[in-house]
Amino acid sequence: MSSFNPPARTLMGPGPADIHPRVLSALSRPIIGHLDPAFQRMMEELKTLLRNALQTGNDITYPVSAPGSAGMETCFANLMEPGDKVIICRNGVFGSRMQQNVERMGGTAIMVDDPWGRAIDPQKLRDALQQNPDAKLVAMVHAETSTGAVSDVKTLVALAHEHGCLTIVDAVTSLGGIELAVDDWGIDALYSGSQKCLSCVPGLSPVTFNQAALNRVAQRATPVQSWFLDLNLVLGYWQGDGGRSYHHTAPINALYALHESLTLLEEEGIQNAWARHQLHHQALRDGLEAMGLGFQVPAAERLPQLNAVFIPEGINDAEIRTELLNDYGLEIGAGLGEGAGKVWRIGLMGYSARRQNVLLCLSALESVLGRRGVINTGVALAAADEVYQGS
Ligand SMILES: *Cc1c(COP(=O)(O)O)cnc(C)c1O
Repeated sequence: MSSFNPPARTLMGPGPADIHPRVLSALSRPIIGHLDPAFQRMMEELKTLLRNALQTGNDITYPVSAPGSAGMETCFANLMEPGDKVIICRNGVFGSRMQQNVERMGGTAIMVDDPWGRAIDPQKLRDALQQNPDAKLVAMVHAETSTGAVSDVKTLVALAHEHGCLTIVDAVTSLGGIELAVDDWGIDALYSGSQKCLSCVPGLSPVTFNQAALNRVAQRATPVQSWFLDLNLVLGYWQGDGGRSYHHTAPINALYALHESLTLLEEEGIQNAWARHQLHHQALRDGLEAMGLGFQVPAAERLPQLNAVFIPEGINDAEIRTELLNDYGLEIGAGLGEGAGKVWRIGLMGYSARRQNVLLCLSALESVLGRRGVINTGVALAAADEVYQGS
């Protein structure tokens, strides 16, 4: 056995994204104790940075020490009790995960389905709310990473509130990549992830809860079924000014990295980060369309950070992705669920949303597909360049 040295890769899949060198170097700083006063000061800064990124004044805003799926579970475990009815808007893979959470926790999931590759239809949610006046919660995915569709969270949250429901929003892929305003949109509970548009290491899930959500937690008749995710216990470590106590050993160096990635975001300005994702998406889109590749999601519902394009007829999905990886060090994503074998998911997340990545992706795809005679060649880079020249 010898040391593991990963091969050089450019990550343009559904996450993890490329990591900025400053974030990688923050990871290798010396470890200190997770109750060290200096570390506690860093934790307070981290919470402030997260509030700024999420555009919220919520006191209870912290990163769960586990990936986005654990943030999802934190929201359901704390806000839901056995017997509760939860409306879940599903337009991709992650709505089904929410359903499993609700059912495993003894709740009833009311599924409101939209086609994969489309935004959530507010009218369907309105109908479901009318048919289920006893529903307690509404859950939705802001940016569906399985298809690349964005939904109108502000409208959906307002509808849920009209019917007295609290809301859980999955912002794993949206945070840092597109507009997200927790307070302005009235979101009650939200979870995100560190490895998508925040371009940090995987394994952390920022969450935030407003007062209405905390009131629901305080009124629970039953204890939260998960010891590790129980807000009442974990906040003894993340809140408790001056009196912080051990709950679990925080992933100290990963938290240094999150602090650095949020600092980078603040230096850039969050609105500039959204605009950067949009610019590189447009260049990639024009390049792909010039080749003749088509998008799964209609333009008005498309995420800039996740581009699902149809695989040309007769092309073997896995063979192309293997070639891209081996010959170009480039990772793009396979289709998930209904999209498996039908689409590629090309990510432009965080530090991966850069001109050099867009140009590498277009030229690599042009080579591997051009050689098979299934696309127009010699036009993609010029199409992308035109977008950059106009910016
Ligand atoms: C990636 C992702 C998750 C899960 O995050 P993990 O960090 O992989 O657990 C949940 N929801 C969405 C929309 C995602 O893209």
